[in-house]
Amino acid sequence: MERYLGLFRGKRMFFYQSSRGCPHRCAYCYNTAVNRRRWRARGADRVVDELESLRDRYDFSSVYFLDDDFFIDKKRAMDLLRRLQRFGLSFVLQGVDIRTIARLTDDELDFLERVGVERISIGVESGADRVRTEVLRKWGSSEVVRQQLARLKRRRILVLCTFMVGLPSERPDELQQTIDLALWCLKDAENLRVPQVYNFVPYPGTELHHELQLRGFDFPRGLDAWATATGITTSCRPTTRSAATSSSGPSSSASSSTARWTTTVSAVPSCAPRTSCTGR
Ligand code: SF4
Repeated sequence: MERYLGLFRGKRMFFYQSSRGCPHRCAYCYNTAVNRRRWRARGADRVVDELESLRDRYDFSSVYFLDDDFFIDKKRAMDLLRRLQRFGLSFVLQGVDIRTIARLTDDELDFLERVGVERISIGVESGADRVRTEVLRKWGSSEVVRQQLARLKRRRILVLCTFMVGLPSERPDELQQTIDLALWCLKDAENLRVPQVYNFVPYPGTELHHELQLRGFDFPRGLDAWATATGITTSCRPTTRSAATSSSGPSSSASSSTARWTTTVSAVPSCAPRTSCTGR
């Protein structure tokens, strides 16, 4: 069991999943295929009892919640943290979405600090409105993203913001907006970090994978082929309409002026897989 424990800020950390799935439908997320947008959770009593007994056995003082989105049921999430607080535990929350933060009041953010939430991870993904809403189908504009992240700046909670690039139909100016947002995260606040900018991976079963397939993408066939591919990424470049070799983006309004997009699939080294709100 020892090898399954982590270390965070010098504390022994136990990885635990109290719920699975997410009802939202971001077009790139494995949840839509694997959990079919269903969310199910262990009851708070069971989680508290189990973590108490596990802590007695394995002597950890920090819990890393692997939930896809820890706050789907906000009341349950707050209740859990409140009850676990008496064990002197601190918490890392992997799955937190911008929509989640928008649903939390300032008092509730204060509460998270107080009960010992030390780190959260947020999949910000893109700084471009069109890419967020039309391609990724994520909630909230980039302005809303900034507003919500601003509420987290200079708190005691470490906030890991991850991004994706190489998205289907993403234009250079939109890529720049993502870079600008990532830099804005780092500005004026030591607690906001950008640990990773991922290459987009179109996972089988996701809406984006399906759409790309319809456009003739040649994905690895079968598990063996996926296993030996070091990574799949889509590389996009705007082209003129006449030169385009594939159809337009996810919606006809997605392309601007005369720009169309072509996308190719190629194997690239060390392309980290993306799962849930935050990748990992
Ligand atoms: S990316 Fe996050 S909010 Fe979107 S479907 Fe996946 S888990 Fe839910």
